[in-house]
Amino acid sequence: MATANEKIRDALIKRQVQMIKRSGKASAAIIAELEGAYKELRRRIDKKLAVIRRSGEITNATQIKQLLALEEEIRGILEKPFRNLSKTVRKLLEEEAVSDPRFIRDIWKDKLPVVVSFGLPSPKQLREIVNHQPIDGTPLADVLEKFEADTVDRIMAEMRRGLVLGESIPNLMRRLRNSLNISKRAAEAIARTAANAISNGARQRMFEENKDVIAKVIWVATLDDATCPRCGALDGKRYDVDKGPRPPAHRNCRCTMVASIDGDLLGRRPLKRSTQVDLLREYADQAGIKRVRSRASLPRGHKGAFDKFARKRVRELTGKTPATVTFDDFLREQSEAFQDKVLRREVANWYRKRQVDLEDLFDDNGNIYSIDEILRRRPDLRASP
Ligand SMILES: [Zn+2]
Repeated sequence: MATANEKIRDALIKRQVQMIKRSGKASAAIIAELEGAYKELRRRIDKKLAVIRRSGEITNATQIKQLLALEEEIRGILEKPFRNLSKTVRKLLEEEAVSDPRFIRDIWKDKLPVVVSFGLPSPKQLREIVNHQPIDGTPLADVLEKFEADTVDRIMAEMRRGLVLGESIPNLMRRLRNSLNISKRAAEAIARTAANAISNGARQRMFEENKDVIAKVIWVATLDDATCPRCGALDGKRYDVDKGPRPPAHRNCRCTMVASIDGDLLGRRPLKRSTQVDLLREYADQAGIKRVRSRASLPRGHKGAFDKFARKRVRELTGKTPATVTFDDFLREQSEAFQDKVLRREVANWYRKRQVDLEDLFDDNGNIYSIDEILRRRPDLRASP
C-alpha cells in the first residue's frame, strides 16, 4: 500500500498539472484580448501607414512625427486590453495563492494517519506574495509593465523596419501579425511562470507555517524532467524548509515543491478514528488477544504496548516521499479520467495502448500538440483504429 507521503506527493503533482491547465485558460483569455486589439490596430495602422507612405522619404521630419503619432496610437489601443489582462493574471494569481495552502492542508489531513491541525498563512502574507514574489526575477507589476512596453516596442520596431525597406501595406500587416504572435507566446509564458511562482511562494509559506511536522522539502521536476536538463538535475533534491532554491527555475518552469512529513514528529499526535480501528485490529491479531473497538477496552497490560505499536505503525504509514518519478510513470498510474483530461480522450487511448510516447505529444514548452500536429508527426497513427 502506498504511504501517506507517496499519496501526498502524487496529489500535489496532479494539482500541478491542473494549475498549469488553469494558467493555460488565463493565457487563452489574454490572447483573446490581444486578438481583439490586433483588429483595431490593423484598421488604424493601415490608415496611418497610407499617410506616412504618401510623403515618400522616410527620414523627413513630418514622417518621423507621424511615426511618433503612430506609436501613441498603438499605446492607446493596447492600453485597455493590457489593463484587462493584468486583471486576469492578478485574479488567477490571487486564487492560486489562496487555494494552494488550503489544498495542501486538506491533502495532509486526508492522507496522514493522525489528527493534525495545520496552520495556514494569513491573507496578508498571501497578498504580499502576489505583490512581491519575484517572477523570473521581478515582481508581478513590473513583469506586466514590461510585457506591455515590449509589445509596443516590438510593433514599432517592425513598422519602422518595414517602412525603411519600403514594404507594401500587406507586408507591414504581416509584420504586425508576427509581432503580436510573439506577444501571445510571451503571454503564455508569463501566465504560467507567474502562476507557478505564486503558488510555490504560497506553498513555501505553508511549509514554514507547519515546519514542526516537516522533515524536508523536495524539488519535484516530474513535469519538466524530460524537457529541461537543469530541472531534471534538481529533481528529487531535498532541502530544509528554509533553505535551498525554489521553482520556477526558468520561464515556463513547471516544477514544484513537496514537503515530506516526518512520521516521528507525528507519532505523538492522536490517531484518526479510522487509523485507530485498523491498528487495534492489527495489534489484537498480532498479540493474539480478542479484537476490541477502542483503546480503553484493551485488556490490562496492553495499552502501553499498543501505544508503542501504534507509534511505529504511524511512522510506517506516513512513510517517506519517494525520490523522483518521471511524468510517464506518474501518468500511467493515474485514472483513465485523469489521463483523458491531460491528453484528450483520443490521444490518451493511443497512450494507453502504448502507440505513442509522451515525447511525441508535447512541445519543448510542455504544451500538448493538437491532434492534427500529432498526426502530422506520426502519420502511422491515422491508419490505426
Ligand atoms: Zn522546472
